[in-house]
Amino acid sequence: MNDNFPSITSYFKDRSAVIANKHSKERVMAPILEEALGLKIIVPKEIDTDQFGTFTLDIPRKGSQLDAARNKAQEGIRLTGLDIGIASEGTFAPYGFTNANTEIVILIDLKNNWEFVGGNKSLQTNIAETNASSVEEALIFARQVGFPEHGLVVRKNKSDTKYMQKGITSKIKLKEAVEKILKLPLNNKVLIETDMRAHLNPTRMEVIQAATLDLVQTIKRRCMECGTPGMKYIKSNPGLPCSLCGLKTDNTLSITYECQSCHTVSDEMYPYGIKACDPANCQWCNP
Ligand SMILES: [Zn+2]
Ligand SMILES: [Zn+2]
Repeated sequence: MNDNFPSITSYFKDRSAVIANKHSKERVMAPILEEALGLKIIVPKEIDTDQFGTFTLDIPRKGSQLDAARNKAQEGIRLTGLDIGIASEGTFAPYGFTNANTEIVILIDLKNNWEFVGGNKSLQTNIAETNASSVEEALIFARQVGFPEHGLVVRKNKSDTKYMQKGITSKIKLKEAVEKILKLPLNNKVLIETDMRAHLNPTRMEVIQAATLDLVQTIKRRCMECGTPGMKYIKSNPGLPCSLCGLKTDNTLSITYECQSCHTVSDEMYPYGIKACDPANCQWCNP
């Protein structure tokens, strides 16, 4: 690394940046970005990020997870006239016998023409739904998913937006919402889902925090040739030796990154801080 490159913070210090969201994600994102990069975080009051998609699917998401995050960050830039936009986007998907929550965080810097992406995947999520036919059943489900710290959505069925109530965080509200739908003609059940919006889901908020830390790690990874921050992940390379037999294994030996400015490619060796893997993870010792 050339010592003459300006420090990472010198690119960002005291610049104003918008976090485009209306679900209080700045609570976990802003302290990290202010501390690590010296940014001044602004959250516009009027922004409606729901236009880019909702978990309850009353508004479907357009494009990929990354597209959605990018669109939100650009909307934040458009609304505020600032030249740094930040946004996050989450997805939930089945993973083995459980579910995974993947969060990505994007930072777009128009002045330098940079785009950085960080992410985190977690199996800690309470995403769940059930059909209940009584208030008692609804309360049992609610307890299992961390209510009332975690919010709930109550509606007739998946396609119902008319009777849907989001953001339920009290027993009284839950009871009222369930009873109202159970009283509808020719209806004897109610769909209860976890509300996955960040401000109503502390478990998800932690994943957004981890993704923001990963974004900072990404930005700090600089090109050795030109000093540009944010070397981009290209691929991980297997071949980490086993600590017992010494043979090459399928475990990651290095990660290949590319500079988004001069396109220099470089390998970071031992990215997880270990130089040999446990024989338990060796396909020769433990086939
Ligand atoms: Zn081995
Ligand atoms: Zn470079």
